[in-house]
Amino acid sequence: MHVTPPKPREWLKTTTGIYCEPGDFHIDPTAPVDRAVITHGHGDHARPNNRHVLATDGTLAIMRARFGKEAGGQLQSAAYGERIRIGEVDITLVPAGHVLGSAQIVLEYRGSRVVVSGDYKRRPDATCAPFEPQPCDVFITEATFGLPVFRHPPDRHEIDKLLHSLRLFPERCHVIGVYALGKCQRVLTMLRDRGYHEPVYLHGALITLCDLYCAHGVDLGPVLPCAGVPPAALKGRIVLAPPGATNDRWARKLPDVVVGMASGWMRVRQRAKARGVELPLVISDHADWDELIATLEDVGAPEIWVTHGREEALVHQARLMGLRARALSIAGFEEED
Ligand SMILES: [Zn+2]
Ligand SMILES: [Zn+2]
Repeated sequence: MHVTPPKPREWLKTTTGIYCEPGDFHIDPTAPVDRAVITHGHGDHARPNNRHVLATDGTLAIMRARFGKEAGGQLQSAAYGERIRIGEVDITLVPAGHVLGSAQIVLEYRGSRVVVSGDYKRRPDATCAPFEPQPCDVFITEATFGLPVFRHPPDRHEIDKLLHSLRLFPERCHVIGVYALGKCQRVLTMLRDRGYHEPVYLHGALITLCDLYCAHGVDLGPVLPCAGVPPAALKGRIVLAPPGATNDRWARKLPDVVVGMASGWMRVRQRAKARGVELPLVISDHADWDELIATLEDVGAPEIWVTHGREEALVHQARLMGLRARALSIAGFEEED
């Protein structure tokens, strides 16, 4: 008797993140669960207090740094490419190119292969392993920048804008808003790559994760804490700070500030304006529209599930490409980057 294997939609549910029934685990659960598999350390993917956590070394280190004892009951690390069986499901973590430790979760169950990509990008990033396209039957993709207006310019171009401003205003302090996990370290390595080897000053909230990246072998060049440095010494310097700090009291003590911000959202002029950003740098850790489409082509999956962002436009695009596509609409994801 021939039994047709169950379709992924019958064994992967979207409750509290993505729930895999035959393995009895959740991927990036939005509330604490018994067994969690975590794609990467950003706050809307990695949350505290799961009883058991499976993730890469890098992701576990980030979770420990952020949550301390609440990182999870039991923490199990998996190397990229290592195959791990949970229940009836084989799991492999594969690089996603998003931030240090970020992984796509490859699930194999009764002949079908599903890839939960988490967040990803396709551009080179010296701070993490590059995205590896995996052939699969169902590809679950993010869509943070899933609209045709989102086309990120070349990274090099954006970093050169910062270096150019620094030459133009050698007396002004350039305070650049960056997310603490990923963007901060990426901007540092990009500056070094463009030949900037001066010390870069860090707001206190960025130091722990920079140390963590260094401990994982990422060379950030000379970085110094801002704390204790006389404001006059920061003239003509680059200071990195969390996005919320660039316009607060702390920043007002700095000399003649140029406020910058490194984010994919800087593509939207009103957003830059609303945040008082004079120097918008369109640098994103997420795939842009063209990269999302290129990725659908690269993985060659006949079926696409879209989550996390502008779902409808990408669903429509996938259908135009002749693929089956659906929006997952999982609650609990924030607008990241
Ligand atoms: Zn992320
Ligand atoms: Zn995300």
